[in-house]
Amino acid sequence: MNRGPYYLTTAIAYTSGKPHIGNTYEIVLADAIARYRREQGYDVRFQTGTDEHGQKIELKAADAGKSPKEFVDEVAAEIKRIWDLMNTSYDKFIRTTDTYHEKQVQKIFKKLYEKGDIYKGYYEGMYCTPCESFFTQSQLVDGKCPDCGRPVSPAREEAYFFKMSKYADRLIEHINTHPEFIQPESRKNEMMNNFLLPGLQDLCVSRTSFKWGIPVDFDDKHVVYVWLDALTNYITGLGYDADGNHDDLYNKYWPADLHLIGKDIIRFHTIYWPIFLMALDVPLPKQVFGHPWLLQGDGKMSKSKGNVIYADDLVEMFGVDAVR
Ligand SMILES: [Zn+2]
Repeated sequence: MNRGPYYLTTAIAYTSGKPHIGNTYEIVLADAIARYRREQGYDVRFQTGTDEHGQKIELKAADAGKSPKEFVDEVAAEIKRIWDLMNTSYDKFIRTTDTYHEKQVQKIFKKLYEKGDIYKGYYEGMYCTPCESFFTQSQLVDGKCPDCGRPVSPAREEAYFFKMSKYADRLIEHINTHPEFIQPESRKNEMMNNFLLPGLQDLCVSRTSFKWGIPVDFDDKHVVYVWLDALTNYITGLGYDADGNHDDLYNKYWPADLHLIGKDIIRFHTIYWPIFLMALDVPLPKQVFGHPWLLQGDGKMSKSKGNVIYADDLVEMFGVDAVR
């Protein structure tokens, strides 16, 4: 029996270093869903990959004495090796340094600029370097980055902005009429009450403070904001074309049935991403599911805490099926 197409994605893994079992958890979870859907008779497409641009990677590469591209080539290969070691049945491994992806991101940026949804201005705010995000004073938590808890510093730069507020009412309406869109329910309430209902600010979608990104093709001292670049992987990986000459895969599989992501990036996937899609006149994914983290003791696993466990060490001890 053919139940029709089913498209699911993981978040793309950031190539700042080797993934630990917290990152590996997501690909295995998605793999279990993909296998289950195939058993049910769905024509499954399962996409994963790597998110390779941004200032953090530029800095890490410099520390390692490598070019950013050399650095991400090594880390992306390591991530793919672990996904394969874990016996995950993905159909597509996209890298945001792939040429077709970079070209489409440039076309998308230009399209949104020509449409008037992106405009040029200046940004002044509090900046978190590891997260590559600006925040207003009111968004800070105890004066620190609300996403990672690190210190932020004041910054001002020429930048392009996206008119988020233009689409806010439409997004609120969509969320209210599609209770399955953001899961679990608690995440939906968090997005509504903390971000959408208080009012969306325009989003800064370019950077001039570093080079390692996709250049804005009509103004190349700017690189495209890493989230606008990264999120579009879900459509460029199917052969989306900003001029409408899509591959058959895109016509068959979009909109996605499921974006499976970590709870820390829910805001990007349930506010920014659907709004970018609305601006492009592209249908929204059917569901975004934010899964919790694997914890070590009472906190998140992190290299700085020295409590990281890697999948390949566990596989060596217990075998792949036991680790899965
Ligand atoms: Zn941060």
